[in-house]
Amino acid sequence: MRVLECPQCHGIDLYYEAGLITGYKYHCKTCNYIGAFVIEREFEVPEKPSEE
Ligand SMILES: [Zn+2]
Repeated sequence: MRVLECPQCHGIDLYYEAGLITGYKYHCKTCNYIGAFVIEREFEVPEKPSEE
């Protein structure tokens, strides 16, 4: 699973926003960062511990 991470606050609550002149960019809900650059990160879904 791939997540986008904010370069400013490292939050993952980002959404893609269409700008009229600048084109598409990301908007961070947490710190209000707006920009085209975000960190793409591979997120590993933790496996459920198997009870034996
Ligand atoms: Zn942020």
